[in-house]
Amino acid sequence: MNTQTPKNPIYVNEPFVCKYCKEANPKAEIGCRNHCRNCLYSMHVDDQVPGDRSSKCLGLMQPIDIEISQKKGFKILHRCKLCGKMMYNKMADDDDLYLITQLIKTHNERTQKMERKNKEKEQDKLYGKKPTNYNRKRPQKKHKK
Ligand SMILES: [Zn+2]
Ligand SMILES: [Zn+2]
Repeated sequence: MNTQTPKNPIYVNEPFVCKYCKEANPKAEIGCRNHCRNCLYSMHVDDQVPGDRSSKCLGLMQPIDIEISQKKGFKILHRCKLCGKMMYNKMADDDDLYLITQLIKTHNERTQKMERKNKEKEQDKLYGKKPTNYNRKRPQKKHKK
């Protein structure tokens, strides 16, 4: 590990043109503009911390999930299409609301699926599963003639 790596996010709020949908994004009114307000795509420009701009990857980062925090609001999870790096970015006030709701929908469906699976596991514990040696072959007896 490089000890000189900065740990705190660097405040960068710049206008940019989206590489994915060509939307011209102005500076954010509040906070940082780090993804496109029109398609929610981001770019892999940061390496260790948000705003360091030291990544050599420059891949497009696809919005794949959203986390809802009661204190901080919505955080969009981006995954780089080139290298797979994942990063959370705070939702901006003028982000496309339809896409945000779509992300929330898929997020909720995923959590519901997980909960259902966990419930099934618990029920297995309560009511007992088939014994694990159920399918084990019994030693074959040799028949003497
Ligand atoms: Zn865009
Ligand atoms: Zn990348």
